[in-house]
Amino acid sequence: MSLDDIITRIANAEENAGRPQGSVSLIAVSKVQPNTRVQAVLEQGHRCFGENRVQEAEGKWPDFKQQFDGVDLHLIGPLQTNKARPAMELFDAIHTLDRPKLANTFARLAQELGRCPDMFIQVNTGEEDQKAGVFPIDADDFIKECQALDLPVRGLMCIPPVDEEAALHFALLAKIAARNGLAGLSMGMSSDFEKAIALGATHIRVGSAIFGERVSS
Ligand SMILES: *Cc1c(COP(=O)(O)O)cnc(C)c1O
Repeated sequence: MSLDDIITRIANAEENAGRPQGSVSLIAVSKVQPNTRVQAVLEQGHRCFGENRVQEAEGKWPDFKQQFDGVDLHLIGPLQTNKARPAMELFDAIHTLDRPKLANTFARLAQELGRCPDMFIQVNTGEEDQKAGVFPIDADDFIKECQALDLPVRGLMCIPPVDEEAALHFALLAKIAARNGLAGLSMGMSSDFEKAIALGATHIRVGSAIFGERVSS
C-alpha cells in the first residue's frame, strides 16, 4: 500500500457512498514511524497527520512544521490533563476529549492561549473497561457540557472493539452525532476505513496501510 493507493480507495469509497469527492479527510497516522517515512509522505504533498502521544509528537513535528507549510496535526491518543497545554500548543485538532476534567482544563487554557484546537469527543461505543471515551449513554450530556464551555466541538471519535463488527459501532457513533447536530465523525482505520466512509466518516485515521507496519522505536 501507499499514499496514492489509499487516496484512490478513499475516492472510490466516497463515490460508492454517493458522497462528494473530498468530503473525507485522511489523517496519516505517523506514530512510531521512522522520520524518513514521514518525510516521504510530506514530500508527496500530504499535510494531515495523526500522532497518539504528545511527547513523541513534540520530538518530530516542530522540525517538520518548519520544513513544510500547512501541516495539520491531529492528536488521536489518550491525553493526561497535565499534557493538555503542550497538546493545545502543538495540535490543530484533538480527538480524545473524554472527561469533564479535561474539558475544563481545555476551556481554561483556551482563554489563556487565545486559541483552541478543534475538538472531537471520544465515545467508548463498545463500553470496554480498558478503553477511553464516554459511554454512549453519557455522550449527549457530555457534548452539551463541552459546548457550554465554548469548546469548538466538531464531532465524535470512536475505536471499535477489535472482535466486533466495526460497522455497528460506526453507525452508533453517527447516530449520536446526528442527534446532537455534530458534523464530524472520526472513525475508520487501515482495516475498515471504506466501511467507515460508507457510514459517514469525515476523518479517517490510517497508519499502517500508508506507512507499512509500525517498527518499534
Ligand atoms: C494507531 C491508530 C490508528 C491507525 O491504525 P492503523 O491500523 O495502523 O491504520 C488509528 N486510530 C488510532 C486511535 C490509533 O491509535
